[in-house]
Amino acid sequence: MRTVLLTPYEQTLLSRIEGFYPRECCLCGFKGFFRGFGHPPRYDACCPQCESLERHRLLALWLNNNPDILKNGTTVLHFAPEEVVGRFVRRRTHDYKSADLEPGRADLMLNIEQIALPDASCDVIICFDVLEHVDDRKALKELMRVLRPNGIALLRTPFVESWSQTYENPQIQTPADRYLHFGQEDHVRYFGADVRDRIRFAGFQLEEFVAIEPDVSRYGLVRGETIFIARKLG
Ligand SMILES: [Zn+2]
Repeated sequence: MRTVLLTPYEQTLLSRIEGFYPRECCLCGFKGFFRGFGHPPRYDACCPQCESLERHRLLALWLNNNPDILKNGTTVLHFAPEEVVGRFVRRRTHDYKSADLEPGRADLMLNIEQIALPDASCDVIICFDVLEHVDDRKALKELMRVLRPNGIALLRTPFVESWSQTYENPQIQTPADRYLHFGQEDHVRYFGADVRDRIRFAGFQLEEFVAIEPDVSRYGLVRGETIFIARKLG
């Protein structure tokens, strides 16, 4: 029999990957140990009951704090839909549609840069982890167009707060280079703090919801993670 010797680092990693501190899930109510998730792993990231990640729990927290946003009859459009978020929203409104560029992955096949929906047809748009994959200027303009007056887009994207400018580089063309420069094989830029200006440029009024204590420790959130609440003024 082969003996596998683990380094102290590997032993620590394995001991924490199935849960480090007990947490609470604001999507499904689970209380207990969350699983690690991601490469490299983030401890206590994934709820074992509903598979929510930190960003999904941050969104649920904001929606729970703002119960007027989702009422029955609110028209919700959800891009690149995460199933756990879809279930949460569908419990609050029957008028929910998921959307994706890939056929068969959602209720609607939509290109966010050219959304095949009429002007002013949605009340709430959820769009997490999409803008870093696409032409964000086109996408934000389209989100603005399809929202009704006073509608909101809930946006989340990776960005570096201490970079004043978004990093874009036309030399970067291969998946391996995109991973190295932008953090994932299919990301096309890494946003800086000016992501806010890019959202406002499309005409949105901007608010932010940031993961702070005591919610970070209680719900297993990423410190400082930010959801942009982009409102189309009426
Ligand atoms: Zn859960």
